[in-house]
Amino acid sequence: MDKIYAPWRYKYIRNLKKEECIFCKALTTDDDRKSFVLSRGEHSLVIMNIYPYNNGHIMIAPEKHTGDLQELREETTSELWHYLKRWELVIRKAMNAQGFNIGMNIGGIAGAGIENHLHIHLVPRWSGDTNFMPVIGETKVVPMSLEEAYDLLRETYGREFND
Ligand SMILES: [Zn+2]
Repeated sequence: MDKIYAPWRYKYIRNLKKEECIFCKALTTDDDRKSFVLSRGEHSLVIMNIYPYNNGHIMIAPEKHTGDLQELREETTSELWHYLKRWELVIRKAMNAQGFNIGMNIGGIAGAGIENHLHIHLVPRWSGDTNFMPVIGETKVVPMSLEEAYDLLRETYGREFND
């Protein structure tokens, strides 16, 4: 697998530890669009990554603030998969994604930016996306703004799923 080179993420990860947990913060927000919360389940939420590896990079996280997978209850793990599956479809349809990288980094040693709150990355891929991304360097290389992507994904989700 080719890795996407996203230099702006290093600064983000370095600065992150001092800040409060973005997932816990998003759980209590009253403005989903401003916080880029795409959907909420009973035990989880789906949020856009504001420092994306690629356009449409989203994260599915449990409500529980934990970095330990073993602490999640069965209903939470199945709900994470439920939303992962739904949003994979939505991104594929809305953005014509050709493939996905899906994964978790558990623990700082594995590269987790936010160590203490588990989250699954869902990163859409297109042919050639590793070629043009490094050129732009520090700026975010997203050909679509986060707000545009948010609206497009929400609209598509609403069309696909009625809940
Ligand atoms: Zn948290």
